Amino acid sequence: MDFEIPENLRMMQDTIRRFVKQDLEPVSQKVEDEDRIPEEIVGKMRELGLFGLSIPEEYGGLGLGTLGECLIYEELTKTNACFRSRIGTSNGIGSMGILFDGTEEQKHRYLPKIASGEWTACFALSEPEAGSDAGNIQTTARRDGDSFVINGLKHFITNGDVADLATVITLTDREKKTRGGITAFVIQKGNPGFYVGTIERKMGLRGSHTCELIFDNCHVPVDNVIGGEPMIGKGFKTAMRVLDKGRLTMGACALGAAQKLLDLSVEYSKERIQFGKPLVRFQSVQNMLADMATEIYAARQMLYHAAWLRDQGNKVIMEASMVKLFCTEMACRVADRALQIFGGMGYMKDLPVERFYRDLRLYRIFEGTSEIQRMVIARELTRP
Ligand SMILES: Cc1cc2nc3c(=O)[nH]c(=O)nc-3n(C[C@H](O)[C@H](O)[C@H](O)COP(=O)(O)OP(=O)(O)OC[C@H]3O[C@@H](n4cnc5c(N)ncnc54)[C@H](O)[C@@H]3O)c2cc1C
Repeated sequence: MDFEIPENLRMMQDTIRRFVKQDLEPVSQKVEDEDRIPEEIVGKMRELGLFGLSIPEEYGGLGLGTLGECLIYEELTKTNACFRSRIGTSNGIGSMGILFDGTEEQKHRYLPKIASGEWTACFALSEPEAGSDAGNIQTTARRDGDSFVINGLKHFITNGDVADLATVITLTDREKKTRGGITAFVIQKGNPGFYVGTIERKMGLRGSHTCELIFDNCHVPVDNVIGGEPMIGKGFKTAMRVLDKGRLTMGACALGAAQKLLDLSVEYSKERIQFGKPLVRFQSVQNMLADMATEIYAARQMLYHAAWLRDQGNKVIMEASMVKLFCTEMACRVADRALQIFGGMGYMKDLPVERFYRDLRLYRIFEGTSEIQRMVIARELTRP
């Protein structure tokens, strides 16, 4: 067994660690207050190649592989979660459909611009009547000669407002639904009939916007079907493949935040004096720190192992769900203990603990809730 992280990934990790400390941390509170990431920070993320982490080098990305991507996200999520969301949605769920199932022409047309950060991509699957039950989408794409006409409403779409293009999952055959009746399209901003609707007000993840996308007689050519004509009706599979990979990176995001909360808690418990001694001398505080560290250690091992398995070409459907389930639930337990250790100060907006607490809660909901991950794990376990 080799537990060493390759040298090139270690170097990248160090670069991101420095970037977080020097550039992201100082603006983290401003981003929270203003609910937007300054353009110069987006520019720096472009320079570092962060928009192309998972896009292969032949399309202008860094082609890091799953482990590399997870290591970078683990570092990036030690600060405000919105920074990861700004890049991760684009070179993750927003563009992976094109990479996995797109035609060569589509890959060359879209991926280099996404990898450079010139274009941002988002992923539009969820609808008011189709969340966990993703196969129940109602947004239709009706064939009209050499084009399709799309009508419907997508909601809760991360980065929908800043995205230049969207991977949009539609219903093309109501009878067949997930068994041959769902088709994935790539649609660019400015396409007539494609609008951004309401931007939601939400509990956390400020700096990253979650929007409605509206399709009102939106005409797109057949060329915009991801994978072209042969992939008509096969879009549900594309969407599920995209989400499988996203589950590992979600685990990495939860892990990074949990590690940061542990580090802050250790520091604070050494400094804060009550009853004449630092908190860390009280056994019940030590127990909380020990439980946090132990769960983080377990989460990191399973994440790296599953990422490594995927990089070796293995199918990791069950492992990816286990990682998302365990890491995100673990991080919420860690956040709860961190807030307890910080006491009243943990509840105040002057310190980042309350922000982590709110932001982490989302990870158990999006890209498949914890309940859906358990369903996937059980289904894989009981497969004949
Ligand atoms: C901030 C944010 C950003 C998002 N970004 C995106 C995005 O970029 N693109 C996108 O397409 N979507 C996005 N989503 C949508 C997200 O993926 C869904 O919210 C999620 O899949 C859950 O769907 P739902 O909200 O409709 O909840 P529901 O499906 O209504 O579920 C409600 C509850 O019921 C449980 N439940 C549902 N079905 C079952 C079952 N069969 N067994 C047991 N329990 C069940 C769920 O686990 C949950 O606890 C985002 C959501 C949020 C909040």
